[in-house]
Amino acid sequence: MSQTQLLPALCPIDFSLSHKDSFPHYSEKALNSFKILDSFLVPSDQPTDESVRIFPSLPPIHYGHPEIHLRAGIMRASRLAEAQEPNAEKAFFVADLSQVYRQHMRWKASLPEIQPFYGAPPDLRKQIQVILIAPLFFTAVKCNPDPYILRLLASLGAGFDCASNGEISQVLGVGGIDPARIIFANPCKAVSFIRSAGKAGVDTMTFDNADELYKIARAHSSAKLVVRILTDDSKSLCAFGIKFGAPLHTVPGLLGKARELGLNVVGVSFHVGSGCYDPSVYTDAIARARAVFDMGREVGYTFNLLDVGGGFEDALFEQAAAVITKAIDQYFPDRSALKIIAEPGRFYVSKAFKLAANIIARRAPLVEVSATTPEVSDEPSVMYYINDGVYGAFNCILFDHQVIHPYVLSMDGSFHVPASVPQKLSSVWGPTCDSIDCVSPKTTLPSALQVGDWLGFDNMGAYTVCAASQFNGFELSNVIYTMGGAGGLEVQKALAGLAASGHGL
Ligand SMILES: *Cc1c(COP(=O)(O)O)cnc(C)c1O
Repeated sequence: MSQTQLLPALCPIDFSLSHKDSFPHYSEKALNSFKILDSFLVPSDQPTDESVRIFPSLPPIHYGHPEIHLRAGIMRASRLAEAQEPNAEKAFFVADLSQVYRQHMRWKASLPEIQPFYGAPPDLRKQIQVILIAPLFFTAVKCNPDPYILRLLASLGAGFDCASNGEISQVLGVGGIDPARIIFANPCKAVSFIRSAGKAGVDTMTFDNADELYKIARAHSSAKLVVRILTDDSKSLCAFGIKFGAPLHTVPGLLGKARELGLNVVGVSFHVGSGCYDPSVYTDAIARARAVFDMGREVGYTFNLLDVGGGFEDALFEQAAAVITKAIDQYFPDRSALKIIAEPGRFYVSKAFKLAANIIARRAPLVEVSATTPEVSDEPSVMYYINDGVYGAFNCILFDHQVIHPYVLSMDGSFHVPASVPQKLSSVWGPTCDSIDCVSPKTTLPSALQVGDWLGFDNMGAYTVCAASQFNGFELSNVIYTMGGAGGLEVQKALAGLAASGHGL
């Protein structure tokens, strides 16, 4: 070792854990004020008065606000720690299914022309499909393929955007989902995947290159093809244009080739990039789609499908919906035979998951903090290590360019953290031995935080659980499900309806 790390002479941290040898013991007061929580402090696979089991293969779903379950989980961990259970302090998610339902209501309110079939009786659905703009939305499975999320979206009438054989089997495995409700929205597929999609009855699929047309002609010649076009994705967290999307000047050639091969092209799709922070890009994208509809007509196709993709950011959703509605009015004034769909991913699930992680270690940073003027330093003066990181739930930092904002869930055995507690600049790190495993390089947290305290993280539902690994032997965090707040009853009805029809079990 070339350098020995010396702790600053005036170390900001007391490294002894004298008064807290293992784990915080929640005060009598905390325990009393959360008597109701006792019913949650049982192993989570047992249904209780406070929970219901709708699908035998899945854990029960609790009732109540996610906050209650964050606290219940922390108190359960505390009791397990007292009993010296290994991994008692394991990090965990709380998934609020009513949040997904509320997003769905927002979707329906702002994009009434892109409605799901939810609620309409079958004969009326047919009419709607003919008279209105056959309404469907296809949620992107990759964003969060959680079994409850899939079941809830299925029971709300969603379609599914799948990118692989595995995702298709996962969706069809729920049962009761017509393969026509799946779009194979990956423009570059293995021939074997195209063939098995065809066998499974999945006909709608995207392409953006000529080879794909030859492969489809060979493996599933009756497919309904959607040409994925390139649009401006420079205003998004994750741009896809470098990998997918046919530039407009290549489209006439592609459509001509499709025609020559006897393939059926039915429409146009695009994706403005995931996490789009400038909804005005949808206007240009829809204008381009219009141009491609016209190119289709030139070679003898009559397209009837417009797929506006995903990219919807929670905070900008209503704005994006307004832009899309206006652009569709402008570029597709005659919509009598047009079916408009979308592929929202993060919009539906991002806010539905919260994560609770335990502070498992604490140390001083390598860079010495000035002992005389610590308050003027703009570098973190303490490093907290928590038990989930970028190789687990926080892979969204690496892959989804997210910036993470931790907050205190519990401190020194109490859920009450007065706003007046002194704060200091801190950094938060994941548990693995890799230094890339940093959750937050600079954030403000109470200076009294210690090992055993809990941090909370919101908006952990999109591109998190699904891409987590077990690098360095750290387990994936569990999920506790709740019906949540407003909309919980509708969630329960929807899921119970699916189960009653014999699906999702
Ligand atoms: C990832 C993806 C989506 C979902 O994107 P969000 O930004 O999460 O809404 C939709 N369609 C396709 C083809 C995708 O690859």
